[in-house]
Amino acid sequence: MRPAAGAGPADAPALIATPAAPATATLQTPRARWLRLPRPCVLCGQWDHQGLCGDCEQRFLATAPARCPRCALPAPTDAPCGACLREPPPFARCITLADYGFPWDRLIGRFKFQQQPELAALLATALQAAVQRHATAPLATVILPVPLSPQRLAERGYNQAWELARRVATGLGLPAEAGWLLRLRDTPHQVGLSREARERNLRDAMWVAPEGQRGLAGRQVALVDDVLTTGVTAAAASQALLAAGAAGVQVWVLARTPAPGS
Ligand SMILES: [Zn+2]
Ligand SMILES: [Zn+2]
Repeated sequence: MRPAAGAGPADAPALIATPAAPATATLQTPRARWLRLPRPCVLCGQWDHQGLCGDCEQRFLATAPARCPRCALPAPTDAPCGACLREPPPFARCITLADYGFPWDRLIGRFKFQQQPELAALLATALQAAVQRHATAPLATVILPVPLSPQRLAERGYNQAWELARRVATGLGLPAEAGWLLRLRDTPHQVGLSREARERNLRDAMWVAPEGQRGLAGRQVALVDDVLTTGVTAAAASQALLAAGAAGVQVWVLARTPAPGS
């Protein structure tokens, strides 16, 4: 069931929300004016106003395969896949823009490792559109990024998940919180460990700050990341949020790594 705009439950904010500030006001900033200038399409180089030209949007975004609503892997229908029926992930839903592959892998790589602000805006807008297309009740009321460890954050200088989360939150008129869920450390040397052991390591590395404990109670949370690969990190983060009192967690990602062999 896909609710129409504004047709969500009365106590939940409409997912398709108008931004808090009128568009004309945001266009006054130099940065926003710059964003409206024609520039080459990030994929084909054709000049356009959007960052992604109409041709590429049609080619790469117009069609979306059916996906399992729990893990977002491509599936014959929009019903939960066998793996999710046997062993449901702790998150109730996963919404993805696309499979992790051409051209999204390149765009995400540039966004993640070269910190291109115009790409962050473009990818967040596309993710927001995917969320608005696929959202089902209960709708999220707060958006959190999948956290980076302090070491990784210091290396990279920013958390790409937060760059997406805060923009999607603005677009949907929802709050975003960067400090509620923290990752205390990286969990290297996960290769060779069982899935359960990797999950336990990751779960132990996630920590909900006191502010998050207060804020999460009874809330529907959307957890944002760039790519969902095995789902282990998203599962560990979801478990931490649920243990802290969140009513439910859904995961929103730019890209979903296809299952091996698919
Ligand atoms: Zn293009
Ligand atoms: Zn599934």
